[in-house]
This record gives sequence, C-alpha cells and structure tokens, in this order.
Amino acid sequence: MSILSVLTNYNCDLALATIPVQITLMVYYFATRYLPTRQSRSFVAVLVVSLLMTVSDIVSSVLVSHGNMVPIGLLYGSTVAYYMLLVLLSWLLFSYVAEEIHAYRMISSRFRLITKAPLFFMLALVAVSPGMGIIFSFDGNGQFQIGPAYVSLYLFQWFYALLAVAYVHTCRETLHRIQRRRLYAYNILIFVGTFLAALDEQILIISYFYLLAILVIFLGAQNPESFYETRLDAFNSRGFRSLMAEALGEQKYWLIGIAIKDYSGVRELYGDQQMDGALRKMGQFFHQLVDRRTSLFYIRNGRFILLSHWPLDEDKLCQIIHERFQSAWHSKDFADIFLSAGCVKMDRSVVFFSMAELIRCLRLAMDRAGDPAYTKDIHIDAAFNREIQRRVLVQQTLSNAIENDAVVMFLQPLVDAKTGAVVGAEALARLEGPDGGFIPPSEFIPLAEANGTISKLGEQIFAKACAFLSMPAVRKSSVEWINVNLSPLQCRDRTMPRRFIRIKDQFRLPSSALHLELTEEAMIQADRLQESVRIMREDGFQFALDDYGSGYSNAGRLLSIPFRTIKLDRSIVVAHFEKGGTYLEDIIHSLHNQGYEITAEGVEDKRMADELIRLGVDYLQGFFYARPMSEDDFLAYIRPKGKGAVSDDAEENLP
Ligand code: C2E
Ligand code: CA
Ligand code: CA
Repeated sequence: MSILSVLTNYNCDLALATIPVQITLMVYYFATRYLPTRQSRSFVAVLVVSLLMTVSDIVSSVLVSHGNMVPIGLLYGSTVAYYMLLVLLSWLLFSYVAEEIHAYRMISSRFRLITKAPLFFMLALVAVSPGMGIIFSFDGNGQFQIGPAYVSLYLFQWFYALLAVAYVHTCRETLHRIQRRRLYAYNILIFVGTFLAALDEQILIISYFYLLAILVIFLGAQNPESFYETRLDAFNSRGFRSLMAEALGEQKYWLIGIAIKDYSGVRELYGDQQMDGALRKMGQFFHQLVDRRTSLFYIRNGRFILLSHWPLDEDKLCQIIHERFQSAWHSKDFADIFLSAGCVKMDRSVVFFSMAELIRCLRLAMDRAGDPAYTKDIHIDAAFNREIQRRVLVQQTLSNAIENDAVVMFLQPLVDAKTGAVVGAEALARLEGPDGGFIPPSEFIPLAEANGTISKLGEQIFAKACAFLSMPAVRKSSVEWINVNLSPLQCRDRTMPRRFIRIKDQFRLPSSALHLELTEEAMIQADRLQESVRIMREDGFQFALDDYGSGYSNAGRLLSIPFRTIKLDRSIVVAHFEKGGTYLEDIIHSLHNQGYEITAEGVEDKRMADELIRLGVDYLQGFFYARPMSEDDFLAYIRPKGKGAVSDDAEENLP
C-alpha cells in the first residue's frame, strides 16, 4: 500500500523518500563553503533541478490521477513542467560530467554546441505537445495519452548517459582510476534508473536513481569538506587544484601567495599548538583583508593563497601583509609569536597550460618566498617562467643522460708543485645540452641531489674515472690518480662503498688511484659517513677534503675522517692575493703539521702559482694549468710533453 494511494494511482513512495535526502544534501552544501568552480555550480544546478523535478513528478502524478476533475490547462502545465525538468536534469547530469573531467579541454567547442541540440529539440517537443500531442496529450476526459514521439523521452536520457560515458572514455588518460570508475558507476545508475522507469511507469522511480547518482558524485567529488580546512576556515590544496584546473590556458584570476619564512624551523621553535593558533589568526586576517569574492587557500607548510576572479591590488595587499607581520600574532591561548613571510605575485601575462606546470612554478615560487635567503617578494613573470622551463629542460636532459650513462666526464689536471708534472686529475661532470653546449654542474648537480639521482650520476663518473685510469696511455703517463667528487647525499647510501669497490676491482685498479673528494657539508651527518669512509679507507681509497675555507671549518669534524689531502678553496686563495697577510701561510703550515697534503684550487695565473709554491702547497689546480677538458683532450694534453710535464707558458689556457 503506497503512502499517497488515496491521492494518486502512481506509486510515489520512492520519490517521496528522496525529498528529505535531497533537501538535507542541499542545506549541507549551501551551509558549507563550496568552491567557486564551474563544476560546483553545475552540481548546484543538478541539486536544485533534481528536487524540482521530483516535486513536479509527484504533483503531476496526483493531478493526472484525477484528470477528469482537474482543469486541462493545469494538467498540461504540470506535465509539461515535469517533462521539461526531467529533460533539463538529464542534460545537467551529463553536463556535470563534462565539467568534472574538464572535457572542454579535449572536446572542441563546436562539438559541444552540437551536443546541446538534442536538449533544445526535446524541450521544443515537450513545449509543443499541448497543441500537437507529439510527446503526450490529454483526451476529453483528462486521460493521459502517449504521443507518437513519447519514446524519445527515454532515448534522450540514454543518449546523454551514453555521451557522458563516451566523454569519460575520451578523457580516460587524464582521469584517476577511482574517478573513472565513479563516473562510470554514476552513468550506469542513470541508465538503470531510466530503464526501470520505462519498464513500469506506475512507479515513480527515476528520482531515486538520480539521487543515487548524485550521491556518488557528492561522496567522491563534491563534498565541500574535502576541499576545506575547517580549522583555518580556508580551502585546502585539493580545492586549489580543482579551482586552478578550470583556469588552465587562461589568465582570468588574480593570485597572491604568502609563505611563512623558515616554516619548519619556527614550527619547531614555537611548537605545533602555538603555530596552529597563529595560523588560525592569519586565516582570519586574510579573510578580513579581502571581500567574499576572493577565496583563501591553505596549502600546508605555512603557505596561504588568495585567489580571485576579480581584480586584486597585489602590491597594496602584499604591503599590508608585510606590515601585519611586523607585529606579533597573539591570542589569549598562546604567547606572542613573531614570524616573517614572503609574498608571491603572479604577473598577468603568465598563462599555464598544464597542472604540472602550474604546480611546479608555484611550488618553486612559494619555496623561495618562504626561504629566509630571499628578502624580496617573488614575482612569477616571464623571466621566472623561463627559469622554470630551463630547470625542466635540465631535469629532462639530466635524467636522459643518467639513464643512458651519457653524463660526460671532464678532467682537470692536478699539478705537482715540486716537479710541475701532471700527477692527477679531478673528474668533473658535464651534461651535454640539447643545443650541443654544456650545462654547468652548478645547474644540474643540485637537481640531481634534489631528485635522488646523484648517487647514480656519481657512480657513473666514478666508473668513467676507473675506465680512464685503466687505459694503457694513462697507465704509461705520469698521472697516478683521479679525484672523484662525492655528494653529501651520496655518502648516506650505505651500499656505496661496496659498489665502488666492485667497480674499481672490475678495472683491476689499486684503490690508491682513486681519491674521493668530500665537502664539509658531507660531514654534518658524520656517523653515517664514518662507516662508509672506514670501509673504503681499509680498501685503500684516499680522501680529500674539498672546498676548505669556503664555509665554516670545524677542526673537530676534520679529525673524524682520515683525510690525506685538504683542497684549499678558490675563495681563500683569492683572498690571500687580495688582502695579503699571513693567514693562508699559517693555515698551510698548520695543516702540514697535522700531516695533510695540500692542494690549492683556482690557480689562475703564474703569479698565483709561484706564490702558492713558495707557501709550500703540494699540488696546484686551476685555469693557469688547464681548464677541465674532455678525456681525449686530456690524453693529448699529457702525451706530447713526455711524462706530462707542464710548460711555463700555460697562460694560453686562460680565457
Ligand atoms: P669543485 O669540486 O670545487 O670543482 C672545482 C670547480 O672549480 C670546477 O667547476 C672547475 O671548473 C672550477 N675551476 C677549476 N679551476 C679554476 C680556476 O682557476 N678558476 C675558477 N674560477 N674556477 C676553476 P665545475 O666543473 O663547474 O664544477 C662545479 C662544482 O660542481 C664542483 O666544484 C663540484 O662541487 C660539482 N661537481 C662537478 N662534478 C661533480 C660530480 O661528478 N659529482 C659531484 N657530486 N659534484 C660534482
Ligand atoms: Ca671537487
Ligand atoms: Ca673545490
């Protein structure tokens, strides 16, 4: 027995039951801050039209059941309203899918326009039915009559469900597996619903299935809380991505990024609870700063973004933000917190065409804004974008080269101060750029360290140094060893010693032919390092401390590793020639007394070479002798001079 059986011949139970659910969903959705995206607006349209359709379905079923007592105009009016809402809803359900998967990026605008044609055609058919009876009509007794094109109502719904499936299929590459499945499930529900509705028209079942479909969307993609950081009353990074996904390829928004300087440091200093309190205060402050048309995002690690589709005065806002950060963040729950922040401004000429590009750019900009070393605001402009593109290019070139073992080893001679002979060489990595030129290590070594490929790169250079040393021409020369640079990160890898020993053994080289250069930075994680160094020292490898005098020198750390050589950094050598004094001499003296050999780097002219030799340095390296060169050039360099003696007129190597 149906609830409304006194009123209608139709079974309205399912349709009735959906109404409170639909209202709950709607109230919840409107009460929570939802993202101002086209996708959300499309979902709101679905919610509203679905509720109206359900109500009109029930109302018209009641009226139609009493056709003989109801004025014909009212019968037509309510039925036309119901069919129109049904048609509109089918289209909206399809159109939501197109928005969620950003189909407009893959599907041409002309095709999209064509897909609207059936909608207008159906609306027209419904609209003219009262006169022409194409879809339906009422006879003299107010009895409902099916029209010749009645079936097109179902065909229409299936058409859009199928079109949605086709869209999902077309865009499948860009969709996550779960999202794809969810969208297929959504359309299957619509399909099943319309099919069952066609089987038995006495039961108002369509709203029920449409509601299920709506729930599938709500749970997976449209729950406002999944885009929201309730604590801070701001959207989260998922929300940011969703909003920006719709803005790709166009520059229709204004953006300001705010990053707290040294966030992890200050968080450690003040503690989690205090920092969270300060972040809440900041959220409130940013909200007050702008109107409701501007959305606030919190994207973790002390980073906020203000985004608006309406003009923002970035300069003024950033100034106000900086001024605010001059004073403390405080409330009654926590002590005063002093923070600084950097701002990111986006130039209006910058347009992004992919999410990856946008995120990469913004991340770097925010990293810099939050870096205490950058005191100015970061401007994302054409130059910044070029820099990013360059990084991407270097990154790709680097991973290709590492993949194909194509990183080139250059060699720079190490000259014996007493004899002038080339006794060794430093191996320096070179990356061949797409234009044939070389990308300098200062550009690609930090990237290799950041993405973890430095170990592989270092190992490849090491293997190349071994291969070079084992060449007969080199064995016969005065070159006794090659210095290979080790990155601090490489040293953390506990398997490194074993692998290096294996490579060296393959080339049947004595370990003493390989000197490994470490910077002081590497020694900060001394415990991990020491074990590796111990294993390699036992095997006979020699160690050199690189860049001595370039940063903080810590005698204690120096003692912890059994270095054979200390390499004086170019800066300390240059300082001696600029400022004079006995500082360099004292250092050399003291290091010699401790038993170290000394190499001077950055020897650029004869005057420097002579002076360093006078000061008692053991080995010399620099442009005065030779710039780093290819293996072939190095072979040629050591060959004609018999045992590798270097002539006095080495100045020709200078630029
Ligand atoms: P580094 O280890 O201090 O290498 C010496 C750098 O000084 C080289 O720069 C070299 O070309 C340059 N140099 C040599 N003589 C002179 C001179 O007389 N005047 C001046 N101004 N510079 C001179 P390069 O080749 O650009 O390498 C830069 C840095 O990249 C290296 O500094 C090293 O830290 C890193 N690097 C290079 N290859 C590798 C590698 O295979 N692995 C690792 N981990 N780092 C590497
Ligand atoms: Ca070095
Ligand atoms: Ca160095």
